[in-house]
Amino acid sequence: MSSVTVRVPAKVNVQLSVGPLREDGYHDLVNVFHAVSIFDEVVAKESEGITVQVNGKWSDQVPTDDSNLAIRAARALAKHAGRSYGAELVIHKSIPVAGGMAGGSADAAGALVACNELWGLGLPMDDLMEIAGDLGSDVPFSLIGGTAVGTGRGEQLSELPTGGTFHWVFALANGGSVDGQRVRRVRPAPGGLRRRRAVADAQRLPHGGARHRRRVRARHPSEQRPPARRAQPPPRARPPTLESGRQHGALGAIVSGSGPTCAFLAIDATHARDLAHSLTTTGTAHTAVAAHGPVHGATLI
Ligand code: ATP
Repeated sequence: MSSVTVRVPAKVNVQLSVGPLREDGYHDLVNVFHAVSIFDEVVAKESEGITVQVNGKWSDQVPTDDSNLAIRAARALAKHAGRSYGAELVIHKSIPVAGGMAGGSADAAGALVACNELWGLGLPMDDLMEIAGDLGSDVPFSLIGGTAVGTGRGEQLSELPTGGTFHWVFALANGGSVDGQRVRRVRPAPGGLRRRRAVADAQRLPHGGARHRRRVRARHPSEQRPPARRAQPPPRARPPTLESGRQHGALGAIVSGSGPTCAFLAIDATHARDLAHSLTTTGTAHTAVAAHGPVHGATLI
């Protein structure tokens, strides 16, 4: 096979509850992930080395060096297979970058599925889940999609039957705020951003699935900290956005994950389209996209 294309969805966190500190120093979490129909596409073509190009609206925000999560995923897969494979990866980006919608994790999951096929490895989902868990806490969920509850420290993921389709509007931002105001980043926790990210991942992300329950090594002892302080908006940035959505008939309005993307639950597809239109024409959000969920995780097309 000379070229493989995989479609992989964004996610919204519809619930994140942090319980009290346990004796082992961790917090109990209940975290609900929901995959929605905003997709990146990852194309993998035969090549000598492993490279990446990124196209699309948000591409200028994405690194194309070895820090790109798709490259890291392809390398991890080759290492797992014990061979030095090559792939030219092309990412068509529609998921906003740094929007709390797991765009980088989606690309990593897409690269795993694409390269597994391109290289004819035929690795089972269990193996891909294990590699995904080592790459980042959002990556396993991006592989399976649907709706899932993460419990424990966030490391146990169970599929959640939802019994229908939910229609959403996402007021998108690209590393900023939905309404164009700058997002204020709080002072990093002692230990720096890397640990803060690891903590946030541990809190927010599962490392298994209903069919793929597994515990992942606790590789970040400093995860045993209270919830990390994440990016916060200026005090008056988000409430008007959420409130405006409610005023336009949204059934619910939440900030996805660490933000800044705001998610509005609509009555149906028509209402979602109207709501997206209202949010942009009133200047509440500079970009609003209607989408539905749950959708499958990384899928060969
Ligand atoms: P999460 O919801 O997991 O917190 P996010 O949606 O807020 O993540 P991402 O879109 O994953 O954020 O981007 C986070 C950072 O990861 C970006 O600033 C970007 O530089 C880096 N990154 C590396 N590879 C990619 C990729 N393939 N796509 C997007 N971002 C990437």
